[in-house]
Amino acid sequence: EDVFLTPTDKQVYLDYNLRNAIINHLSDHDIVICHDPQPLAMIKHYQKKCAWVWRCHMDVSHPDPDVTSFLKPMLNRYSAAIYHKPEYRLKGLKIPSTVMPPSIDPLSQKNTEMSDRQCASLLKKHGIPTDKPFLLHVARFDKWKDQMGSIATYKKVNEKIPCRLILIGGMANDDPAGAEMYANIMGAAQGNPNILVLTEKNDFLVNALQRHAAVVLQKSLREGFGLTVSEALWKETPVVGSHVGGIPLQVINGKTGYLVRNPEEAAKSCIKIMKSKALRRKLGKAGKEHVRKNFLITRELEDYMRILPKYCPK
Ligand code: UDP
Repeated sequence: EDVFLTPTDKQVYLDYNLRNAIINHLSDHDIVICHDPQPLAMIKHYQKKCAWVWRCHMDVSHPDPDVTSFLKPMLNRYSAAIYHKPEYRLKGLKIPSTVMPPSIDPLSQKNTEMSDRQCASLLKKHGIPTDKPFLLHVARFDKWKDQMGSIATYKKVNEKIPCRLILIGGMANDDPAGAEMYANIMGAAQGNPNILVLTEKNDFLVNALQRHAAVVLQKSLREGFGLTVSEALWKETPVVGSHVGGIPLQVINGKTGYLVRNPEEAAKSCIKIMKSKALRRKLGKAGKEHVRKNFLITRELEDYMRILPKYCPK
């Protein structure tokens, strides 16, 4: 995708980083971890007394050259960079880098245990009908998340098994295209009472929806990691997703869900899961186990403890 940063855009970015550096005191720590590009220029304003690590949550393997040459001198002041996947690395940096996938917190409101009764009463309270099964897509309203593909998938599934589609999302406030995408989704859902579009920000509600869904859809066109996949698998709900970003690390085809290329394949996989309780249970159990071994916060903590000391000054 083309990006064009004007000199004014760059100046605004640098000004906000300066403002944040003035109000945050990052000089007396053992380590500073900076997430993504938004705050990375803050490093310019500190005397580097400890390790500064850049934790990147995106695929930056094919960056815009102008943006890269603007950010590189600042990035090269970091002690190291951490990426989700080896292929995501930004090439040509002078600093070391390592790979570590992200994780979910099983004790957070979004992932904590919830009984069937609690789940049902929460859905009822929010007016979510449960007389028919539903497909669920949890994601920001963004073209790369492909809510339109989920609507196409739903329509095909609904021809065979009457069901609903629930799209829950919001607009990232740093993404100007979100409102447009929301309007497109509302347009496509209009007049279909079985497609519910929710915008409430509520972790317990997401938790209950992920538990109750027949299948969770995550067939993004592009993805950083896609933590919604681990969130669903942790609740023993199978995921039908695309082969992009971190999704194939979480969806093991035929074991924790299905990897698909288009709405036709997605619909077939959803129908297969919805027709067999035993299959849903089997995929769900394997999904939870896969997340337990690989994508819980305890694993990420262990990784940090192993990785970070390497970059700390002796
Ligand atoms: N999310 C949420 N409510 C919404 C939409 C998304 O809580 O309406 C959460 C979702 O549960 C997940 C996160 O936002 O924890 C999105 O992370 P992910 O890695 O899937 O995608 P990103 O938005 O970072 O590209």
